[in-house]
Amino acid sequence: MQRSVFSCLEREKLIKHLSKTTFDVLVIGGGITGAGIALDASLRGLNVALVEQYDFASGTSSRSTKLIHGGLRYLKQLEFSLVHQVGTERRLLFQNAPHIVKAEPMLLPIIKGGSLGKIATSIGLGVYDFLAGVHFSERRKMLSAAETMKQEPMLNPSLVLGGGFYYEYRTDDARLVIEVMKSAVKEGAVCINYAAAVEALHDSNGKINGFKVLDKISNTHVNIRAKKVVNAAGPWLDQVRSMDAPPSGKRLKLSKGVHIVIALDKLPIKQAVYFDSPDGRMIFAIPRDQSCYIGTTDTFHDDGPDKLNTEKVDIEYLLLATNRLFPDAKISADDVLSSWVGVRPLIYQEGKKAGELSRKDEIFVAPGGLISIAGGKLTAYRLMAKKTVDLLMNQEKSWKLRKQIFPSTRNYPLGGGNFEKNQSPEIFSALLTSKQGQPLISEWIVQKWVDRYGTNASELIRMFCELALESSEYNLIKAELYYCVAHEAVCTLSDFLIRRTGMLYFEREAIASIYNALNEELAILLQWNEAKKLASLREFEKEYEECIRFRH
Ligand SMILES: Cc1cc2nc3c(=O)[nH]c(=O)nc-3n(C[C@H](O)[C@H](O)[C@H](O)COP(=O)(O)OP(=O)(O)OC[C@H]3O[C@@H](n4cnc5c(N)ncnc54)[C@H](O)[C@@H]3O)c2cc1C
Repeated sequence: MQRSVFSCLEREKLIKHLSKTTFDVLVIGGGITGAGIALDASLRGLNVALVEQYDFASGTSSRSTKLIHGGLRYLKQLEFSLVHQVGTERRLLFQNAPHIVKAEPMLLPIIKGGSLGKIATSIGLGVYDFLAGVHFSERRKMLSAAETMKQEPMLNPSLVLGGGFYYEYRTDDARLVIEVMKSAVKEGAVCINYAAAVEALHDSNGKINGFKVLDKISNTHVNIRAKKVVNAAGPWLDQVRSMDAPPSGKRLKLSKGVHIVIALDKLPIKQAVYFDSPDGRMIFAIPRDQSCYIGTTDTFHDDGPDKLNTEKVDIEYLLLATNRLFPDAKISADDVLSSWVGVRPLIYQEGKKAGELSRKDEIFVAPGGLISIAGGKLTAYRLMAKKTVDLLMNQEKSWKLRKQIFPSTRNYPLGGGNFEKNQSPEIFSALLTSKQGQPLISEWIVQKWVDRYGTNASELIRMFCELALESSEYNLIKAELYYCVAHEAVCTLSDFLIRRTGMLYFEREAIASIYNALNEELAILLQWNEAKKLASLREFEKEYEECIRFRH
């Protein structure tokens, strides 16, 4: 099997390289923030290493609402420049990764006693269109009550006063991280999962110059040295800061957000809906394939980022709001097919509620030189990365003098996003299907693979043909597993079924009968002994149960 350096099978070599090299930059954390920094720094000619304690994207970056926001909510807080900024970022992301960033029509019903009136919504969405640079075809339309009901007949007619129709963009958050990480690796970064930073290393002047890292696969330690160290550990930020020195100044405050998944049959909405909950917060219901996901909650979480549970009150809160607006759906806790829970790494402000804390990012520089970046959104990851690497370049004057001509991340197609000019993922997919001659793989599957892996779907098809498999549902998934082991650093069954494909959340029932066999395949590919095979299976089974277990 041909493989890239971004494969668990290359680990030994990578670890050796990590222990022997002094890098320009070491990044701690393999979420979207860390991935973005690794890519930006690599593009500027810096020698970068990145370590992630679990799997890439296993923190907040796979547990979001999966929207590339245009920044509508910032309008309410009168943060006009922020709306403009995230609107621009959204446009760039769509340009650079059209396979994983898709326009999502969104209905905003205006309801009796809701937080938004007709005039305010119309002005708000209009200003938003202008500030966010929304394309003419996607500009807002205001709807009467009757038009709103026609658009979404399941809405509660006794509540609906009218509606606004506009566009958000949907993504697959974990895949976005993987594609950014793959791009960083392509540009020379060494990025490794299951490698936890455990102790900061300092030179004789007390300046940070690396981290002692635990390789969780071989259970050995390695010292990684670098001129600059960036802490992008998201909700674990303060923990990593304290490995360097007791953190002073601002601290993180974590806020928990839960999403639930139900069958689309249960709530057959025709587009995404952004609606009021009884407590005045706003909730999304978003269709995805045959499912619909609903979220999110926003409550303080004081138990640390490793202890996350969905509680019954979270489910009740989401169902109460959804059933009030869609009374005929009668959704109960038994209809929940899966769920996920994440924590927002927000910056603490005295006296503010979870929903009121700013989502802006901030950089803290410790006296010993550790640079920590916190807060922010998935949507604005590129700007956060740019800001961080600009700071590094300013600190290290000799890097500035290198005067490298580097491509900006503004126009850099992310992994799988290098479609030809004016070629949409749909056109690419149709071409791939027709190239097969006697098609082994249906048009529908090719489109699904292009939406997941972009232009790299052609490599997946090549691997499928090389494996000479019959075209069964199982074999198609098996080929994906082979691809993800060879090119996407899959080390466990959970990596594949949760972060690379999202199947645990959106196809939970369908994978019940195959996950054991997939684990066997993985054991052969990664040459596991019985203990490792069992550990991978048990870990996944725990996740499989947890996503429908709700605690009191
Ligand atoms: C419920 C919810 C909904 C959201 N919805 C949206 C949305 O729709 N759109 C949007 O733009 N934003 C959204 N966000 C915000 C967005 O998800 C986060 O801002 C973003 O994912 C944070 O990424 P990160 O890389 O900073 O953190 P993380 O993704 O948590 O990454 C940090 C990583 O650091 C690793 N790490 C920690 N300690 C160590 C160590 N010692 N050694 C090595 N690695 C370590 C962790 O394991 C983790 O993987 C949402 C957030 C939540 C919680």
